[in-house]
Amino acid sequence: SSFLGLGLDPLLASHLSSKLGIDKPTSVQCASLSTLLPSLSAGAASQRDAFIQSQTGSGKTLSYLLPVIQDLLPLSSHSYIDRSIGTLAIIIAPTRELAKQIADILEELLKLRLRPREEGPDDEGESGRLMTRWLVSGLLIGGATRTHEKARLRKGIPILVSTPGRLLDHLQNTSSFNVGKCRWLVLDEADRLMELGFEESIKGILAALDGRWKLAKQAVEEGTSLEVGGWDWGRRRRTILCSATMREDVQLLAGTALKDPIMIRA
Ligand code: AMP
Repeated sequence: SSFLGLGLDPLLASHLSSKLGIDKPTSVQCASLSTLLPSLSAGAASQRDAFIQSQTGSGKTLSYLLPVIQDLLPLSSHSYIDRSIGTLAIIIAPTRELAKQIADILEELLKLRLRPREEGPDDEGESGRLMTRWLVSGLLIGGATRTHEKARLRKGIPILVSTPGRLLDHLQNTSSFNVGKCRWLVLDEADRLMELGFEESIKGILAALDGRWKLAKQAVEEGTSLEVGGWDWGRRRRTILCSATMREDVQLLAGTALKDPIMIRA
């Protein structure tokens, strides 16, 4: 299989190849992209959560980052999208080091954004494919001061990578942290999240996201919030859990975090 054959956006595929030297999907990427990419997973499967069981080093990071980016790409073409829309995807990692690694890969992938929106559609007129300065990533790991992180959250971070404690802290204490429209949650290395004692933090995060989503949905339904054409605000958040093992504690976490998940093993 090729990335294109799996339904990856041609711009993303050529960027992967030319900038990251990645030409051929690994087996976990084949399995994940074929179910998680928005273009090919039409219908019921397109809404489902996923449990990805794979070892580190298998390429699991791209197997969730690419579907998330491809899902958010079309938004870049809306002239009225800005960062006030809040955070649309959250990736949780057990350690600062891993969060940093994921954020670095994400930043490389987002260098795809070619030119600012003001310059108009690209040569082929495919404005929907343009990435803009809007789609940026950010890292919240508590290394910076809380005040500095709050300021960045107030500005808006569409794709966020974080450790669990710091994320929950901001969900509870940063009023300008807007997650009502969050469409993706990834729990990376869930086995390590459990080993490090993050179960309660994650439950708190899930509850906070559910609560904010319900409020945002209600606001759209009541007409007190911005509705963006072609964008399904009412769509349930999609959650992806990655783990090297199917240990009992991980299965319990999956039971709490995932609804009717697709099992992806590679
Ligand atoms: P991961 O399992 O996501 O931590 O990835 C392990 C390493 O494999 C990283 O250094 C990636 O850059 C690299 N990698 C991921 N996908 C591919 C691929 N399809 N071809 C070659 N290298 C890859």
